[in-house]
Amino acid sequence: MTLAADLKAEVSAHATLAGASRSDLSRALAGIGVAERELNMRASQLWHWIYHRGAREFADMRNIAKPLLEKLAERYTLARPEIAAEQVSADGTRKWLLRMAPAHRFDKSAEIECVYIPESDRGTLCVSSQVGCTLNCSFCHTGTMPLVRNLSAAEIVGQVMVARDRLGDFPGGVPPEDGLTPRGEGVRAVSNIVFMGMGEPLYNFDAVRDAIAILTDGDGLSLSKRRITVSTSGVVPEMTRLGHECGTMLAVSLHATNNALRDKLVPLNRKYPIEALLQACRDYPGASNARRITFEYVMLKGVNDSPAEARALVKLLKGLPAKINLIPFNPWPGAKFECSDWETIERFSEIVFNAGYASPVRTPRGRDILAACGQLKSESEKLKARARMMLEESLAVGQD
Ligand code: SAH
Ligand code: SF4
Repeated sequence: MTLAADLKAEVSAHATLAGASRSDLSRALAGIGVAERELNMRASQLWHWIYHRGAREFADMRNIAKPLLEKLAERYTLARPEIAAEQVSADGTRKWLLRMAPAHRFDKSAEIECVYIPESDRGTLCVSSQVGCTLNCSFCHTGTMPLVRNLSAAEIVGQVMVARDRLGDFPGGVPPEDGLTPRGEGVRAVSNIVFMGMGEPLYNFDAVRDAIAILTDGDGLSLSKRRITVSTSGVVPEMTRLGHECGTMLAVSLHATNNALRDKLVPLNRKYPIEALLQACRDYPGASNARRITFEYVMLKGVNDSPAEARALVKLLKGLPAKINLIPFNPWPGAKFECSDWETIERFSEIVFNAGYASPVRTPRGRDILAACGQLKSESEKLKARARMMLEESLAVGQD
């Protein structure tokens, strides 16, 4: 056995099956001697327990024979990523720092962030797709992180499992006492997913696609594809694949209306300039007025926030089934930018609103920004009703 295989074997000796695909489950079952003809049936049973019921122990799986469960437990666990820290804001927003199990003995434990934003009729989970990001958008903190590795599909699904555990969102679970976590007939605590945490999802395409397949499986976690949004900084060649292979909603981090500026803010623009990006949006499979593409636009003081740029934005998106999501810049230590002031955001939003974009949507970091940036909330009270509505809607993550 090679060293690499040896290390891998050592870890997979206690690998978790929480986050596994159907074929992973079949392989695990075959590995403990389940006969070929039984594999599909047994895998379906495990699937139901893991993803529909949220089982934490093999012993809980009542309709599966005990000896089989014991064999599974000798080799596998149902462990989730570990919650290294949890912050809860007054509005029910929760931010978790999650520690992933090491992929091998010398793997540093990878930590990622995952944010939950509750609203009355939905709850949105913002998940990470990578540890850090290989791109380095100049306004983004994640882009400055040195450590980068892709998360596996299981680690992406694991974030959803942690959230459902914590929010009492599996059958028989106990919801938090905050009264803010949505629930009721047909309402799940986690109803929507946005890939807007750390990383560029389209640079980890296969894992993201496989995770989406697990998340949307009707016998398990059962999330609707229309309630999953993948945000990209503009990895043009993968966008069509995303539409075809995942069928999820698309969000595009635009942030500038001309190539000279976008080259600076989102360096990937040098490879895939605005024209190519918008063409990929026009070609995005399934986009329509009922399934609009969200364009994210971070408000950077004196950089991209003039009325002329608001008009340019409207012009650029003409004819596209688009929503515009204005994101107040979230400052971080060492950042070279400041958030636009409120009058400026107000003016910008007014122009965008007058052009017919009445429903700007979501930023996963919105509430996080409010939590992080003390004055933001009180400042937002001072906004005129129009701009406040726009901002609030842009903070209201998720949709039907
Ligand atoms: N890599 C993907 C998805 C993760 S970032 C992407 O870039 O789209 C999710 C969103 O947060 C993006 O629109 C990103 O541009 C934005 N963002 C990054 N840093 C930010 C900051 N400091 N303040 C506000 N928004 C930020
Ligand atoms: Fe940040 Fe997204 Fe740019 Fe990566 S691609 S640096 S996560 S904004």
